[in-house]
Amino acid sequence: MFSDFNFHPSLIKAVDKLGYKEPTPVQEACMLDALAKKDLLVSAQTGSGKTAAFILPILHIMLRGKKNTGAKALILAPTRELVRQIYKQFTLLSEFTPIKAAMLTGGEDFKFQAASLRKNPEVIIATPGRLVDHLKRGSTSLEDLEVFVLDEADRMLDMGFDDDLMTIASDTAAMKATWLFSATLGHVGVTKLGKSLLHEAVNIDLAGAQDQHEGISQKMILADDEEHKIRLLHRLFTDYPEDKIVIFTNTKVMASRLSMKLREVERSGVLHGDMTQDERNFVTQQFRQDKIRILVATDVAARGLDIQGIALVINYDLARKGDEYVHRIGRTARAGATGDAISFVTAPEWNLMASIERYLKINIEKIVLPGIEGKYKGPKKVKNNGKAVGKKSPNKKKLAKKAGLKVKSSKKQGGGKRPSKPKIEQEEKRQGGFTPIKKRKKED
Ligand code: AMP
Repeated sequence: MFSDFNFHPSLIKAVDKLGYKEPTPVQEACMLDALAKKDLLVSAQTGSGKTAAFILPILHIMLRGKKNTGAKALILAPTRELVRQIYKQFTLLSEFTPIKAAMLTGGEDFKFQAASLRKNPEVIIATPGRLVDHLKRGSTSLEDLEVFVLDEADRMLDMGFDDDLMTIASDTAAMKATWLFSATLGHVGVTKLGKSLLHEAVNIDLAGAQDQHEGISQKMILADDEEHKIRLLHRLFTDYPEDKIVIFTNTKVMASRLSMKLREVERSGVLHGDMTQDERNFVTQQFRQDKIRILVATDVAARGLDIQGIALVINYDLARKGDEYVHRIGRTARAGATGDAISFVTAPEWNLMASIERYLKINIEKIVLPGIEGKYKGPKKVKNNGKAVGKKSPNKKKLAKKAGLKVKSSKKQGGGKRPSKPKIEQEEKRQGGFTPIKKRKKED
């Protein structure tokens, strides 16, 4: 609800007039931290409502602040069109306020722009090149800036504005809030830019899990059972002799058991939710400092693990959900590096893997490690969605038979309750549009 943000009444009036009923996910995710003037690193697409996500808090901050001396907010965007769009939204949202903006883009009259700057607008909306020209000629100063927004930072970098951005940033006041928006956070330049401009930024990731696997080579290996998986692990340790490796299991018990086993052959540690924070910090530190090179982890414990130089992530057990899978593999290829992710897939996990591939809209290459191929070669036939054709749950039947229970024929089971759809399929449906906020986390 917009009322949750305690906006100045003149902003509520504008929002009502525009017919905005609810904040969009990116607005919901950004607003409180923006109002608190924290640095933000946000991935959001055009059409997500991101413009209002930065204009509304800027206006609120300006309305609550002292009277204007110089420009208090600067919004940079890559193209004239985008600057114009932002300006238009600014005019609509500031309609009931005295706050004014100047628009500076290439191809427009320089003198006219300089004259508009002399009126001391609180907000400047500009393309980087033209703003640099104005700064060089002294038509404006950024010393009083409280908020610095870089919209579509990835595009600005792709268009070669790197130097202009750094020139502008060095002219801005030190104590400002910087909000960096980009279509994807996987962009190497954006990561670098964020490092130099942001301070303890809140990381808001709404671009969709699908965009989060750049730089990661994803493979799967069909596996028979635990014993086969252990042999595969040993081979991978030899194939990656020096590198850090993270191995994911689905349970704490399995994580502990596996790490004990691996300790006999490799410097390994374990990270799971039953450990105290001190214990976790200790293991993470050892891993960071190369004192151990193999880390066996569960999802919760490894969330946000930001360690450089992890060359390989192994899904010893397959992740149970698409975005869990994405988080796991995202432990490699940090800060623009590349890395590999290998998933072991046993027969019961085949359909789950097919769902993950559909969720990510990719085909994950099947590889074999020569000499240790398993007996399992995948399903005989697959459906269009990649899932196996055949009996739905052979294991349940086997188990029932073992337990001496009678197994009903599947034809007769029509009247029963339908099994609920796997979580992954529900996720696939939730894609696109103004979906609920998926993730919001502090930058590591
Ligand atoms: P943007 O991604 O900023 O370009 O916004 C896309 C469109 O969404 C623009 O036309 C906005 O006016 C509109 N918009 C922004 N916020 C909301 C909202 N909370 N409810 C409805 N529409 C919105």
